[in-house]
Amino acid sequence: PPLVFSGVQPTGNLHLGNYLGAIRRWVALQEANRCLFCVVDLHAITVWQEPDSLERSIREVAAAFIASGIDTTAHVLFNQSRVPEHAELAWIFNCVARLGWMERMTQFKEKAGRDRERASLGLFAYPSLMAADILAYRATMVPVGEDQKQHIELTRDIAAKFNHDYSLRVAALGLGRPIAMGEEVVQGYFPLAEPLIEGPATRVMSLKDGAKKMSKSDPSDLSRINLTDDPETIARKIRKAKTDPDALPTEIDGLKGRPEADNLVGIFAALADRSKAEVLAEYGGRPFSEFKPALADLAVEKLGPIAGEMRRIMADPAEIDRTLRDGAERAREIASATLSDVKRIVGLLNN
Ligand code: ATP
Ligand code: MG
Repeated sequence: PPLVFSGVQPTGNLHLGNYLGAIRRWVALQEANRCLFCVVDLHAITVWQEPDSLERSIREVAAAFIASGIDTTAHVLFNQSRVPEHAELAWIFNCVARLGWMERMTQFKEKAGRDRERASLGLFAYPSLMAADILAYRATMVPVGEDQKQHIELTRDIAAKFNHDYSLRVAALGLGRPIAMGEEVVQGYFPLAEPLIEGPATRVMSLKDGAKKMSKSDPSDLSRINLTDDPETIARKIRKAKTDPDALPTEIDGLKGRPEADNLVGIFAALADRSKAEVLAEYGGRPFSEFKPALADLAVEKLGPIAGEMRRIMADPAEIDRTLRDGAERAREIASATLSDVKRIVGLLNN
């Protein structure tokens, strides 16, 4: 059966974009699939993290997953660094991936900023570790926000190049399996992962700048709604969100060229489980002064219970740690089998 893999970095405040673009959709995928959900702590340290806050953030992300409805018994929840196979496979992928591939990654360009020379080597190699996260489990379904699409494509490129470079060896060892490559089916070791990017909130934008995505690492707290914000804070941030002066359009087409309006309507739609067209059918023609309070009420209604549940879970860190440890053990069973295949394929003596 196809496996689902996805992760969130413990880099600070989980926000509405993480929830709508990723976590909430994972909950839905649990019904029909085997899933692995990961707190990707090794990714987090590609930029500086205070050790104390990193520890807290790892537990907080785990708590957010559980509070949102991730079933840690039926599925697997763990933190990345506890399964060393991720880092090991990433090294091998560093030797498969090409420098030019990494240089095209927009996330690196954005996060490194102008002074590339001072960015960590880990930040540059990030996509290679992400490919390892996914391929250690040979997962094929990867639910992510729009911003991760390019990294999933790179994961496919790494899988395809590995399959190609080692095709004779894979065949000689009898480790090949049918891999769909477009129309063609070839023998290979790693499957090609599919990004699952769906719904009205695959790219939630900053509340302060309709051209920037909502991010944990944005220095302005007013740019995002954190999962742990209290109702007053949520209402205030939505009230202060940047908009244009016009009323909401009645048709979807009217959102073109109005990124802030488009963003707020998309957030409303995702929270209400409706389409943007349905939201505009109700609110089209009305000013933001009416729409914003309705959005704030809806956000409080949907996020409030999650925040409460997160607080309850965070009160028992030892229990979170137990869950992560148990998840890592189960993840490791799969990942270590993959690594032992990969070492044989590459020719790293491992008997
Ligand atoms: P950072 O700023 O530290 O990179 P982030 O907010 O981008 O943090 P990540 O941990 O990098 O969060 O991403 C976790 C998941 O959330 C990914 O699937 C990513 O695509 C998704 N995601 C992140 N930001 C958004 C957003 N603004 N809208 C929709 N999905 C998002
Ligand atoms: Mg990110």
